[in-house]
Amino acid sequence: MINGERTITRPLRWGMVGGGRTGQVGYKHRTGALRDGTYRLLAGAFDLDAERGRDFGTKLGVAEDRCYATYQELVAKETAREDGVEVVSIATPNFTHYEITKACLEAGLHVICEKPLFFTVAECEEVERLAAEKGLIVGVTYGFTGHPLVHQMAAMVKKGMLGDIRIVDMQYTHGFNSGDDVGAGEAVKWRTNPKTAGPTFVLGDIGTHLYYLSEIVLPHMKIEKLLCDRKAFIPTRAPLEDHATVLMHYDNGARGRLWVSSVDAGNMGSQRYRFVGSKASVEWSDSRPDQLIYEVQGEPNRTLHHGMPYLEEESLAVDRMGALHTEGLGDSWANIYLWIAQAIDAKNRGDEAFLKTHHYPGIKAGTEGVRWLENCVRSADAGSAWVDFQ
Ligand code: NAD
Repeated sequence: MINGERTITRPLRWGMVGGGRTGQVGYKHRTGALRDGTYRLLAGAFDLDAERGRDFGTKLGVAEDRCYATYQELVAKETAREDGVEVVSIATPNFTHYEITKACLEAGLHVICEKPLFFTVAECEEVERLAAEKGLIVGVTYGFTGHPLVHQMAAMVKKGMLGDIRIVDMQYTHGFNSGDDVGAGEAVKWRTNPKTAGPTFVLGDIGTHLYYLSEIVLPHMKIEKLLCDRKAFIPTRAPLEDHATVLMHYDNGARGRLWVSSVDAGNMGSQRYRFVGSKASVEWSDSRPDQLIYEVQGEPNRTLHHGMPYLEEESLAVDRMGALHTEGLGDSWANIYLWIAQAIDAKNRGDEAFLKTHHYPGIKAGTEGVRWLENCVRSADAGSAWVDFQ
């Protein structure tokens, strides 16, 4: 169980780029980072609107002279201070991730970056080399993948409780873009423009969450080929998609399907996962995150609750609230930030042995998400053809 006790040498000096007053995801980062006293928020270039960013930052408790107008100013001034930040989170639109990450790493700062990490696998690999050269960590934030029941599913699969995995069924859909984009806000505008979103809209925006979570639960399975069909129901979004279906063949013979959509009108269910084995299945959804449905063929169905002693050690070890009390998205973000902090702490201490076995969403988690997107786009652009996963 995680109870906030410090597990790293000292709190990390932390800064943010983006995630300002109007940003959707910034608060989730702060919820995760500030939970255990593991990070101290000391600086930020929070907003494209410098004045608003300064006002916002000071209201978060950041000193006025450390609320910067641009990320370039943050990097330059913070690295010139002895007590400057040592890790920066990037919560800005997709097209800025690559340049801001590189600037931070080149200046010697660890990075925690939003997904989809960059536009291409080549960019990811270049940054992976840069981070290795500089001895720095790059973390990536897939929000719900710190939840204890996600790790319960992984432990059950590892233990063979489901048998051989045959079917992977995943969905992340909502209806917030069901209408057209006339008068849409900034967050919709950059998401629907390939120059600012990258090669995909919903596949990158929400599909990468599905893919990374499935990698945690099924680390022994690799995709061999996939077929992606994508469509813009609102034509002005083309060539980007507001809806997509992906079929996947895995190297153990399993079959997968997922759909992602922002035009699933009325749906507030968000994410749903079902992993089916030769003996049993598990199903988990973020609309009821405290419960895991466990169905053994021929037996009554069971609902497992987070924090209960009958769960696997891997799940109980990352539980925060304990049974009977809701464990949700904020708790999951806190775990992700804690695991990344432990990685940064180990890197700072030169403890490579710890890093070899430590689970945290690092640069590879970001790269694999981008690789999956590249394969989806290749398939869709070939007329929804099956393509070998590269
Ligand atoms: P948003 O448009 O709502 O907010 C972006 C924020 O960044 C704003 O505060 C804006 O002023 C600021 N900003 C933009 N460019 C900047 C720059 N160059 N320097 C400083 N600040 C800048 O976007 P959002 O929905 O918060 O998404 C941001 C990123 O987070 C995207 O990559 C998105 O895919 C990702 N995201 C992840 C999750 C998750 O669960 N992990 C959830 C939502 C969004």
